Amino acid sequence: KNYHTVLSENRKLYNEVQELKGNIRVYCRIRPFLTGENQKSTTIDYIGEDGELVLVNPSKQGKDGRKMFKFNKVYDPAATQEEVFLDTQPLVRSVLDGYNVCIFAYGQTGSGKTYTMTGPNSPTEKEWGVNYRALNDLFHISRSRRDTFMYDVGVQMVEVYNEQVRDLLSSDGSQKRLGIVTTSQPNGLAVPEASMYPVQSTSDVMDLMQTGLANRAMSATALNERSSRSHSIVTVHVQGVDLKNGATLHGSLHLVDLAGSERVDRSEVTGDRLKETQHINKSLSALGDVIFALSQKSAHVPYRNSKLTQVLQSSLGGHAKTLMFVQINPDAGSYSETLSTLKFAERVSGVELGAARSQK
Ligand code: ADP
Repeated sequence: KNYHTVLSENRKLYNEVQELKGNIRVYCRIRPFLTGENQKSTTIDYIGEDGELVLVNPSKQGKDGRKMFKFNKVYDPAATQEEVFLDTQPLVRSVLDGYNVCIFAYGQTGSGKTYTMTGPNSPTEKEWGVNYRALNDLFHISRSRRDTFMYDVGVQMVEVYNEQVRDLLSSDGSQKRLGIVTTSQPNGLAVPEASMYPVQSTSDVMDLMQTGLANRAMSATALNERSSRSHSIVTVHVQGVDLKNGATLHGSLHLVDLAGSERVDRSEVTGDRLKETQHINKSLSALGDVIFALSQKSAHVPYRNSKLTQVLQSSLGGHAKTLMFVQINPDAGSYSETLSTLKFAERVSGVELGAARSQK
């Protein structure tokens, strides 16, 4: 069988399974090679237009070393920030109609999570990530509706570090732990004590995010000095009033840059690093379990197993819309992390093609 046969079989299976999945989208983004990386040796064997990705094990020749994945979309390394945002835009806009939306980036440290969500350091407008583009778009659309709707937009920014929620925008720089209110109220705040700032322009948002990012807990790892061991969550609250009849609506957008998903050899870390690692593993698997339960339409969704899922609860499940960016590195050296990232994404999306099917 050639690729095309396998692809079309997989596509059929995928479409069948996707009918069941509800409001969960999974986009895979492959970051480009960085200077100094060996461009000759990659794990990416094939990128299909309909979200197929074939990963090849650099140390296993032949068909056994190949595995196919299928997502809603796969971006090749040349994809621009603008292209990525265009696919995200409808979700972002639905916030102005009263939806709760959660967009997050998952992947190992250095795979481009922050690049996708925020952009590089001091980004030019072209390099803006999803956060700035989303807010910019919300302001733009709300202005265009000003004859019929009046919108107020407020922003909170917290991080979850070692199962504690902290305010990244507190004016006195205090790092006190904050409580979470798990509520099914559409306009309820999950972290009511976190500072909330009204914003009216993209530059207001950029100023806030600079403060928040600077406050984010950082700790050096062997992989990447800037590696972040915390989850950062920007929450945009939108309150709209219909000027015709006074009816109000509330939508929220959670933009989440997750901690690195890399597996750390437990025998090599001790003390604080071991504790961090255990908390990260716990919260990422709790997030995976929640999304998996939602994709299976399970009666019980285990939100309570981590602080991360409690904070995000209102924008995961129900009528909320969820988008996961699965970030991967292209280089051969990242093969085992890439494989485990893709397996995580495959499991949470509820679409596992299975080795046999993809290796024919
Ligand atoms: P992570 O947040 O997953 O740790 P980063 O977003 O910091 O990863 O990305 C690691 C490096 O790769 C950074 O220098 C970043 O600017 C660069 N990078 C990531 N994705 C892209 C991309 N799509 N285009 C150009 N550079 C990228």
